[in-house]
Amino acid sequence: MATIGGRPEQAMLRGIISTMGKRSGRLVALSPAGKQARAIMWVCRCDCGQTVIVKSSSINSGSTLSCGCLRREATRAAIVTHGMYRSREYRTWKHMIQRCTNPNKPEWPKYGGRGIAVCERWLTSFENFYADMGPRPHEFSLDRENNNGNYEPPNCRWADLSTQARNSRKVPSVNRSRFKGVYFCNGAWQAQIRHLSRGIYIGSFPSEELAAKAYDQKAVELRGSSAVTNQSMGLLSCV
Ligand SMILES: [Zn+2]
Repeated sequence: MATIGGRPEQAMLRGIISTMGKRSGRLVALSPAGKQARAIMWVCRCDCGQTVIVKSSSINSGSTLSCGCLRREATRAAIVTHGMYRSREYRTWKHMIQRCTNPNKPEWPKYGGRGIAVCERWLTSFENFYADMGPRPHEFSLDRENNNGNYEPPNCRWADLSTQARNSRKVPSVNRSRFKGVYFCNGAWQAQIRHLSRGIYIGSFPSEELAAKAYDQKAVELRGSSAVTNQSMGLLSCV
């Protein structure tokens, strides 16, 4: 359908010109390498000497920064220096990467196998992961709010099992909040708590934070001062 000199041709040419020679971290785009599943691929040279083929969108957005050498170096450095390689946060980080990048892992089909990826910021550095996520509370695990989304800062949090089970069920991701017990509905933030296996509606609030505080208050009221709250999870900075 595309005619020579027509619009699609021009758009493609503009794309090629703007990507050629572009740098993303250690990668430099050398030449187009055709298409793969509708994505335009580029041959890139890494500063370490390796040549790799990556999506042009990954170069243009800066989401891929190396041939993989950055991650390997970071992993080695992390193990040697940060002293947290026995921590549960480190184990969580390592398992997250394994199930998204290693087809030999039994969990692969549910993760890497269906396109769930780890963002480059976390892939390359345990320190980045830990800086974004903070310490993992006991009995909590890494949860993606959008189950089809990647492992990346806005989509991840530490969640207890009941929160995870609830998330994997309904609430569309667009209605979710970064806080426990809070969701968006009817133009306002709603707070709700589960108690004795039923949902108790707390109220409607103009802001996410206010709804989170109301949730916390109710949680303490129902469960005492040891209740898991947004504040105890470090999600709310002040009362
Ligand atoms: Zn490299």
